[in-house]
Amino acid sequence: MAVKEIIQLGHPDLYLTCEDVKQEDMNRLRPVIADMHDTVMDFRLKHGFGRAIAAPQIGLNKRLVYVFVDEPMILVNPVLSDLSKDMISLWDNCMSFPFLSVKVKRHKECTVTYLDMNWREKSRHLEGDMSELVQHEVDHLDGILAVQRAIDDHAFAIRGQERN
Ligand SMILES: [Zn+2]
Repeated sequence: MAVKEIIQLGHPDLYLTCEDVKQEDMNRLRPVIADMHDTVMDFRLKHGFGRAIAAPQIGLNKRLVYVFVDEPMILVNPVLSDLSKDMISLWDNCMSFPFLSVKVKRHKECTVTYLDMNWREKSRHLEGDMSELVQHEVDHLDGILAVQRAIDDHAFAIRGQERN
């Protein structure tokens, strides 16, 4: 088990655009994905939330996301499409700022196209929780944090003390 340190808000590496994963990177990335799993589980034990992590949050500048909601989902080079006009607003949180909540708007539905561990292209239509989650994670790959998506000046709260 290798729990990685999660890079925290303010670190310049969180604002970089990540590079595409290449097929020849995949063998090297398998243990990294195991570390991402361990890091999410460790975070959940400590903080009571946490569904996914993007590679740049553990210092790897690659377009790779690990999601664990009921079952693991590994997104290599994910691309979003079919973003719905319907938006949802929600208090978002992030492992890179575990004590802060930010009110953001996300597309209610979207489609994510990605490669799996065996370099097969997959596509999934997402709604609700999964839709907003994957939008948050793909933002990480473009160096965008939820704080940059805040809907207004008052869209910040201590996590657990959100008012509306
Ligand atoms: Zn995040």
